[in-house]
Amino acid sequence: MVSSKSFLAFSLKCLASFVATHLSNSSVAAAGAAALPAHHAQRSADAATRLHEMTSDLGPRLSRGALIYTPGSEQFDILTERWQLFAPPTFIAVVVAKSERDVELTVQLANRFGLPWLAVSGHHGAINSLGTFKQGIQISMESFNEVKLSPDGRTARIGGGTLSKKITDTLWAEGKQNVTGACECTSLVGPMLGGGHGWLQGRNGLSADQLISARVVLPNGRLVTVSKDSAYSDLFWGLQGAGHNFGIVTQVEYKVYDVSENGGADWTYANLIFKQDKLEAVFSLINTITNNGTGDISYIDFVWFQHIPEIDATSPILSVYMVYQGTPLHAQKYIDMYTALRPANSTIIATDYTHISSLTGNGNDGLACAHGAYYALRFPTGFETYNLSTVRNLFDKFADITSAQPGFNNSFFLFEDYSTRGVQAVDAASTAVPDRFNHHLVSPVIIYFDPLLGEEAVRAGKELRGLAMEGKTGLLNAYVNYAHGDEGVGGWYGHEGWRIERLRGLKRRYDPENRVGYYAPIGV
Ligand SMILES: Cc1cc2nc3c(=O)[nH]c(=O)nc-3n(C[C@H](O)[C@H](O)[C@H](O)COP(=O)(O)OP(=O)(O)OC[C@H]3O[C@@H](n4cnc5c(N)ncnc54)[C@H](O)[C@@H]3O)c2cc1C
Repeated sequence: MVSSKSFLAFSLKCLASFVATHLSNSSVAAAGAAALPAHHAQRSADAATRLHEMTSDLGPRLSRGALIYTPGSEQFDILTERWQLFAPPTFIAVVVAKSERDVELTVQLANRFGLPWLAVSGHHGAINSLGTFKQGIQISMESFNEVKLSPDGRTARIGGGTLSKKITDTLWAEGKQNVTGACECTSLVGPMLGGGHGWLQGRNGLSADQLISARVVLPNGRLVTVSKDSAYSDLFWGLQGAGHNFGIVTQVEYKVYDVSENGGADWTYANLIFKQDKLEAVFSLINTITNNGTGDISYIDFVWFQHIPEIDATSPILSVYMVYQGTPLHAQKYIDMYTALRPANSTIIATDYTHISSLTGNGNDGLACAHGAYYALRFPTGFETYNLSTVRNLFDKFADITSAQPGFNNSFFLFEDYSTRGVQAVDAASTAVPDRFNHHLVSPVIIYFDPLLGEEAVRAGKELRGLAMEGKTGLLNAYVNYAHGDEGVGGWYGHEGWRIERLRGLKRRYDPENRVGYYAPIGV
């Protein structure tokens, strides 16, 4: 590793030539953003100059080990890789902050020099509004990865960039666990800011429901501690569900549970693969088991429509991942229900909590954690219960789309059926999470490699979501962490007027210049 000062000296040499070739006039204007004071606009006519001035000021003041990377270095490329390629934000520098002071300084100086900034933790944010972030500063949170159990063992202090797997393994070694997203390589904070669904939500609620306090660098660059009882209780509410809009979280104090008192250490994983003629039977069974959110708290399933030619050469299949908190003996009742439907293939594994993500394809070893290989567009909605004819229509349309366009062959359609008991136990008005009433997360994921397929992919996704909407009453609720980006504030944050009013009020108070307006932006 290179120290911040020597690396900066090197990288600034490369900067002028990079900027000359990579910044068009229009992108320079965009990078200037509304917040640039007039005297700076005159003094620093373009983003290149402003970046140079900013980093010259920032570099010597960063703490030991902090780094600034600019394009042209291998590390810059690695740090700016994303889970998927559609609508990427673009960066002219990456600051790898080591301390809260580094984050504060970076935000303050970026503001002063009129450069946009964006926190990046697990690199899995994929909403297309991120594509409006142009030529700014990435603030990499990877060094904020502490996991420290409190003396009473009921909470943990977790760094704002910590990835799920590290948290799960660290706590597990202490006989503890907490609610994280199901994916091992997303951060804790990224999902939490939008609600955060995970394996333990049936018992413990959403990730956002676990938040005790957060240390946040506000859009003006000032660090505050936000909790229910603080002077920032209004912001605490907003962080829990609409939190991408209010600053950078450097650390959270977060609830943890004793494994032994939270359902125990044993888990069962089953993968049951069905041909398409079993679709109605499978979804009817899921309706019965989940029973409008009142089903067994230990039961979870995901259903994927996907192509597995070895099982069916002509049609997508249904792959059910059934996860149960308990031994296979405890899960047997549910395994028997699926087995009675005669799956084409089945695998059953006794395991523990730490292996569930990997077994379901959400592990560091799986595609969910590969970076930068493909385009993946999601078009989420939620169902209270499955309407069987709608699910059939969705399957048929998915089959049509993926057979008509071989470039979409790797796409899948995901139905996530977590227990929602713990989610619904929380007063819906007490956080900014708008949707605690749908029991099923439903999302086509259109995957392709050829960038020319982008428009067709968007059309396909919208068509599938349109069909999904025909099978339910009410307006679109698109889980903000999966959102495509076209759903609008009501789709992301709820259709009750008071929610949007309250969020806009928070924006006016904490971010009047709308500096944090790239991930599902509320606007001011
Ligand atoms: C393969 C895959 C699996 C997923 N699984 C789940 C799941 O099981 N449950 C679930 O709820 N969601 C899941 N998601 C969605 C996930 O919640 C979002 O993609 C989330 O944005 C990822 O956060 P990140 O830190 O990994 O990504 P990043 O791209 O690093 O962050 C996303 C956005 O969050 C904000 N942000 C990041 N870090 C900070 C910070 N420290 N302070 C303030 N803002 C910050 C920024 O606006 C950033 O653009 C999954 C997504 C993918 C692609």
